Amino acid sequence: MSTPYKLYIDGKWINSESGETFPSLNPANPKDIVGRFQLGNEDDVNKAVDAAERAFKKWSETPAPKRGQILFRAAQMFRERKEELARLLTREMGKVITEARGDVQEAIDMTEYMAGEGRRMFGYTTPSELRDKFCMTIRMPIGICGLITPWNFPIAIPSWKIMPALICGDTVVFKPSSDTPLCAIKLVEILEKAGLPKGVLNLVTGPGEAAGMTIVRHEKVRAISFTGHRDTGKTILKEAGLKKVGLELGGKNGIIVMDDADLNLALDGLIWGGYGTTGQRCTAASRVIVHEKIKEKFEKMLVNRIKKLKLGNGLNPKTDVGPLINKAAQDKSKSYVDIGLEEGGKLLIGGKVPRMNGFFFEPTLFTDCSIDMRISQEEIFGPIVSLIPVKDFDEAIEAMNSVEYGLSSSIYTKDMRKAFLAIQRIEAGITYINSSTIGAEVHLPFGGVKHTGIGTREAGILGIDEFSEVKTVYVDYSGKLQKAQIDIK
Ligand code: NAD
Repeated sequence: MSTPYKLYIDGKWINSESGETFPSLNPANPKDIVGRFQLGNEDDVNKAVDAAERAFKKWSETPAPKRGQILFRAAQMFRERKEELARLLTREMGKVITEARGDVQEAIDMTEYMAGEGRRMFGYTTPSELRDKFCMTIRMPIGICGLITPWNFPIAIPSWKIMPALICGDTVVFKPSSDTPLCAIKLVEILEKAGLPKGVLNLVTGPGEAAGMTIVRHEKVRAISFTGHRDTGKTILKEAGLKKVGLELGGKNGIIVMDDADLNLALDGLIWGGYGTTGQRCTAASRVIVHEKIKEKFEKMLVNRIKKLKLGNGLNPKTDVGPLINKAAQDKSKSYVDIGLEEGGKLLIGGKVPRMNGFFFEPTLFTDCSIDMRISQEEIFGPIVSLIPVKDFDEAIEAMNSVEYGLSSSIYTKDMRKAFLAIQRIEAGITYINSSTIGAEVHLPFGGVKHTGIGTREAGILGIDEFSEVKTVYVDYSGKLQKAQIDIK
């Protein structure tokens, strides 16, 4: 058996205190064990926090452009190792190789973007109400940030958190998902090689409760940035106490297809949004809201295309749809097919676990779904799409907004008025016009409304907010006491 991978604490690769390990499996072939990883617990987290605390002063006082230079070097190393990382990602997480390359590219983009932020990190200046007084805002690091991430973008999502935290001068304790620890280790290795000082970034692999929750509750941790399931997010919010908390949670995203839409374009968008990454994206299009006039035609087009989707190992370039992440996810998809049938949804295609080695599930389409069915309301995180027929634009918007989540959304129409009304009326953090629900670019803010989060945004300039504090500075050079609101004549 190969040597277990280690934790990264205080610049050293070490075993966990318990000495226990867990495996990470290839979901396309669970007999292929990707590696064994340290089962980090409270003791390991405490060590990691202490290391992050020791490293904070020097790192936070390092000029941000210098911090940026390390990130630029890391981006270059990511670029050189892009193919190797993408293949590893496919092996550990199951994503088809083209999408895995996209995941790594997103990490490169984010690393470069945040490296550049080291030379911006803008505050602003504004006039004072008093003479000979100068006012401005500056960005300050927060301190130790606890970053907890899911498995579905195992290189990109950690980069969305680690890079802004580092550029802002924070130190980090990072706990990745136990389904994708090797991707996390590779990411940390690159940052180490790029020259990150010891203790600035610490990695603890291990379970949500023993490792993740210890970070969340730790008094020295000043901020938590979490991406994952809504229910985990709710628990974290309750337990974090007086910390800055960022939550990026689930979605039940929809695509509206109006009767004037370019149906071939909408078809491409739905196949990509609904079945790409086997439906395991927070922005996946799990609902398609279709005008009744074109419903039958669009159903036929969808079924014809879904039939052609090829399931398989993501490393095979002919594969369209990879496996689900694990057995629990496969069971969950199966149970939602049963729920959909019980609720009266009409199964047009799919619905079964195919006779294949890994955790595969057939791309599935239900039609004649109403907005209140569980398959139209709940996040399944599998290749299952509910088609909801509607009679007009208003009903389409109502269907779109009928869910608790509010992450991504899309409308296909040639009518600009309807497109702009949709932008205005849809309750979501992201709206696409004539494009699928997925495909975030790193220089634009990313996040959702309602149960998808608590208002924080990742990426772009707003992504800096989560990892920095704003300090307001008043400089009075009048040489006398001037009182705001009082000495205003
Ligand atoms: P999850 O909530 O099960 O796990 C996410 C992380 O939290 C993992 O590292 C896990 O170990 C940890 N964790 C679990 N329980 C914990 C606890 N009690 N305390 C602290 N940490 C704990 O989610 P997942 O299955 O890994 O990811 C899928 C979910 O993530 C979906 O709901 C998806 O929509 C969401 N997601 C959201 C976004 C977004 O940006 N909005 C992006 C990707 C995924």
